[in-house]
Amino acid sequence: MSMTSRMAEGIRNRVGGRGEGRGGATLAITVARKEQLSPTMVRVVFTGDDLADFTMNEFSDAYVKLIYPRPGVSYPEPLDMKVIRASLPQEDWPQNRTYTVRRWDDQARELTVDFVVHGDEGLAGPWARDAQPGDQIWLAGPGGGYRPDPAADWHLLAGDESALPAIAAALEVMPEDAVGQVFVEIHDPASELKLTAPAGVTVTWLLDTAETPGTALVEAVTALTFPEGRVYAFVHGEAAAVRDLRRLLKRERGVKQSDLSISGYWRQGANDEEWRAVKRDWNQKIEESEGS
Ligand SMILES: Cc1cc2nc3c(=O)[nH]c(=O)nc-3n(C[C@H](O)[C@H](O)[C@H](O)COP(=O)(O)OP(=O)(O)OC[C@H]3O[C@@H](n4cnc5c(N)ncnc54)[C@H](O)[C@@H]3O)c2cc1C
Repeated sequence: MSMTSRMAEGIRNRVGGRGEGRGGATLAITVARKEQLSPTMVRVVFTGDDLADFTMNEFSDAYVKLIYPRPGVSYPEPLDMKVIRASLPQEDWPQNRTYTVRRWDDQARELTVDFVVHGDEGLAGPWARDAQPGDQIWLAGPGGGYRPDPAADWHLLAGDESALPAIAAALEVMPEDAVGQVFVEIHDPASELKLTAPAGVTVTWLLDTAETPGTALVEAVTALTFPEGRVYAFVHGEAAAVRDLRRLLKRERGVKQSDLSISGYWRQGANDEEWRAVKRDWNQKIEESEGS
């Protein structure tokens, strides 16, 4: 199956499975256990009977919407976003955050998510830091759009820690003879994780010593001498850094959009609701500036 038809198939899976695509249905998930992977990353393994209805897709960047109820609001069960939107005022609607499926174990029905803990601000980061076995939230999805193309001559993966789960998952599904360059920007030297990668893939860890997140990432990719051949690239993280990298890759390095998975996962100074509210315009402006 070609990459394009695989993606189309995946999109069909997304809209066909139980999850937000079919309306508003969600799955209840419970924290089974937790692991501190690094000073800035906590792994949460979720379980729950509803996961019997979870249909994983084939993308290595598969992601879910984690749904957090508002404290003090009681919701009709099972939690259905369509029903909630029709029956409750907007300020009572649950909030959601998007997270990569780091691992899905179909046998054990366990879903693993690696959360960046980026301080006291926000919803999902602090929630993950404080989560205890038995805590319940909900999920919708999965969606997704990228899987390393085995026909590519080489792979480029670049991101900050928010993209590290997707980068780690991508490396695990690459063919043994894959070659590539991986750049991951981290906040703390102790945040380097042990990644399983093909021998021909070089992983470079970069410290974000600059005030603007993504500075080291942009500098490293800019300085890279691109090998010959077709690159297949995955670039995600803070939106402004991703915008700069997109410009570099498309304009200066001539990477085709179809060989590029690129988007801002988060925006410095904006919470996720604020970022999502402007993301479409942000992307449109970038496309206009590229003349695409
Ligand atoms: C498809 C997709 C997959 C993603 N996968 C993952 C994943 O697997 N793991 C993961 O940790 N994140 C992932 N993210 C990013 C995550 O959704 C955002 O970082 C989200 O904003 C975190 O929500 P929050 O409630 O913790 O913070 P928010 O309430 O959204 O934001 C609060 C404050 O924290 C800042 N902030 C948000 N995220 C970060 C960050 N990573 N580092 C530093 N400051 C931050 C904001 O700018 C804001 O000032 C993914 C995003 C997308 C779109």
